[in-house]
Amino acid sequence: MGYEDTWRRSVDEPEAFWGEQAKLIDWQVPPRHILDQSNPPFRRWFVGGTTNLCHNAVDRHLEARGDQLAIVAVSTETGTTREISYRELHHEVNAFAAVMQALGVGKGDRVVIYLPNIAEAVFAMLACARIGAIHSVVFGGFAAHNLALRIDDAEPTLLICADAGMRGGKVIPYKPLVDAALKEAKAPPPHVLVVNRGLDPTMAVVEGRDVDYAVQREAHLGATVPVAWLESNEPSYLLYTSGTTGKPKGVQRDVGGYAVALALSMTTIFDLQPGQVILCTSDVGWAVGHSYNVYGPLLGGCTAILYEGMPTNPDPGIWWKLCEQYGVRTMFSSPTGIRILKKQDEAWLKKYDLSALRWIFLAGEPLDQPTYEWLSGGTGKTVIDNYWQTETGWPALSLMPGLDMRPVKPGSPGFPTFGYRMRVIDDATGEDKAPGEKGVLVIEPPLPPGCLTTIWRDDARYARSYFGHFKELLYSSLDWAVRDADGYTFILGRTDDVINVAGHRLGTREIEESVATLGAVAEVAVVGIADELKGQLPAVFATLKQGVTDHPADVARAMERRVVELLGALARPGCVFVVGALPKTRSGKLLRRSLQALLQGTDPGDLSTLDDPSSLEEVRKAIARGPDCGKHTPL
Ligand code: ATP
Ligand code: MG
Repeated sequence: MGYEDTWRRSVDEPEAFWGEQAKLIDWQVPPRHILDQSNPPFRRWFVGGTTNLCHNAVDRHLEARGDQLAIVAVSTETGTTREISYRELHHEVNAFAAVMQALGVGKGDRVVIYLPNIAEAVFAMLACARIGAIHSVVFGGFAAHNLALRIDDAEPTLLICADAGMRGGKVIPYKPLVDAALKEAKAPPPHVLVVNRGLDPTMAVVEGRDVDYAVQREAHLGATVPVAWLESNEPSYLLYTSGTTGKPKGVQRDVGGYAVALALSMTTIFDLQPGQVILCTSDVGWAVGHSYNVYGPLLGGCTAILYEGMPTNPDPGIWWKLCEQYGVRTMFSSPTGIRILKKQDEAWLKKYDLSALRWIFLAGEPLDQPTYEWLSGGTGKTVIDNYWQTETGWPALSLMPGLDMRPVKPGSPGFPTFGYRMRVIDDATGEDKAPGEKGVLVIEPPLPPGCLTTIWRDDARYARSYFGHFKELLYSSLDWAVRDADGYTFILGRTDDVINVAGHRLGTREIEESVATLGAVAEVAVVGIADELKGQLPAVFATLKQGVTDHPADVARAMERRVVELLGALARPGCVFVVGALPKTRSGKLLRRSLQALLQGTDPGDLSTLDDPSSLEEVRKAIARGPDCGKHTPL
């Protein structure tokens, strides 16, 4: 069956469809009901079935592929590569689980994991899954306050951290941040398990609280810890959203539905059979990392490459070199990651033998056409945009080379994946929009397996923030979209990223896209700025490619001309700022709301998710200096 028939069945006959997919994983007790929708907007998949993520990701493969590589942990920061077979992974995870049990962690307890992108992060996650503890991975390098907020929300029994991470050759101590966060937290855990990488010799140890992982591992190596069989709908983990639009939400995931959805996605979407190799450049701290650095590939019996380091270090060919070395078939990265490479010499795309590489998936942000063309043209590979949210846990829109590959339409992540019945509706009336018309992208309940089950300890917020927007019970993605006559969906940006110029609503993405067609531009962010006459005007912030020597005012004027040329005079930017860097979250998403606040002289809000504080300083200075083109007078 091709995409169309398979998808149709998944939404028209969900119980039959997902009942069959349930066979992709091992159950200790098979599900009694496939779907329980008696309490909307909540739903439960595979009710009564008991299973375990760690069993399915590790133990299940021991017989057939014990000696196959499960994880290859490459760090260009420490210059190390660890090749870990399924059998070795089983060993390490058992030891880790025994260590956690010895520290009092049991089923249902939360464990906060604050580690860099290293093998121990994978061990720790799987060990939690093994004993039924609920992990909450916090992206390493988040500031202390950010960590404290998550600790207070999750109330963990244990925190696992490293002495330090590294970025671009610089040691970034983690432990002092943990110490500060635990001082601030209302409910600090009794123990901190420290993976000491020997990067920070000055690390302080709190007697009685801090426990050395290496010592504990040694003591528990060889242990076998039985897996805890969990009912399909019990929580497996919590993961906080990026916080691009406000206070991060503690997305709660189940066990069985997540495992089934990921297992299905591995073959149909990512076109990976057992034994094949995926390079996912995400960090385990993000949703993509949870699903495609760790659980998805292991559930699918694949080899996952975990990468700690910058895309440009030791040189901009590092990802392609890994593809050659390990025969990577599918690569998964983000538009931000590729735009970093795009600032460099294109020759790096051609230096290595990429004959095994079939697909490059990109997600997390709109994929602009110039970046798409640069990557697909330079590598000769098929680049597949896919759309998802931390909430969905796996792609919600994608093309499916594992089923039948449809033509790529640049700018569109394609079609709904299994179980997603999506509509594009009018934000005011809730009526369906015609093809070509812009509206809000919504999902009809039930949400498919793999999607969040609720917000941790806040069912009311789950119901309100996702399902409280329309008369009908619909999950709002809070993203604008348009569907073309062929059924391809295009994402036009977030519903709060809209500029109202003289009564006309312009998506920031459309303006950004047109600016990005200029060869000199590396990255661009557009926000609305208040205007006495027209209500709002677009304000453009852009960085230039390395080596561009044109005068900023000339490039800025070229940007203005290009927007008018492509979108009309209505979209003419009120001002254009050429800056050295743009503020982004640690997950690489542009913080447009902070840019807007700086421009209007208002409070830029919670900046704890900001990646590089100096980018904000650059923007402040640029604003104080005045735009490179146009006028800016704060109201
Ligand atoms: P918060 O919900 O806390 O504000 P966030 O939405 O940035 O944070 P994520 O769940 O990491 O956190 O990001 C999901 C969002 O990323 C989507 O809603 C969408 O706006 C954007 N996105 C993801 N993939 C794509 C894509 N392929 N094309 C366009 N936008 C995308
Ligand atoms: Mg979101």
